[in-house]
Amino acid sequence: MIYNADNIFAKILENKIPCKKFYEDEFVLSFPDINPLTSVHLLIIPKGSYVSFHDFSLKASPEELAGFFRAVGLIAKKAGVERSGYRLIANHGRDANQEVPHFHMHLLGGEPLGSMLGSRHR
Ligand code: 5GP
Repeated sequence: MIYNADNIFAKILENKIPCKKFYEDEFVLSFPDINPLTSVHLLIIPKGSYVSFHDFSLKASPEELAGFFRAVGLIAKKAGVERSGYRLIANHGRDANQEVPHFHMHLLGGEPLGSMLGSRHR
């Protein structure tokens, strides 16, 4: 998997495209999805250059892996959905309709989310 640094999230990380920063630390940046599907819909991206979850899981250092997943929990807490519940989604590749080729996790919540994949996949 070759990382293409021309993707939109790389440009957000380089401050070439603006985002409403929700959380940032050494390892991650989090900001609201531009097209929110739920009342809370945040994207969480690593600062390192990884194409997708698969790439990240294989190539990220232990510090990056731990830093990323620790941040996801902190972000959920900051978003106020720790008690009400939330869903994490990471799309990898064609069958998952991954649009942006920089690994990102969707954090969805703030309302009841229904079944996991909708009626077709019950
Ligand atoms: P994917 O389908 O790759 O998992 O999701 C990509 C997500 O990125 C989509 O939900 C889309 O709305 C979001 N997105 C695409 N471009 C931008 C952007 O420029 N800013 C923000 N905040 N979100 C974006």
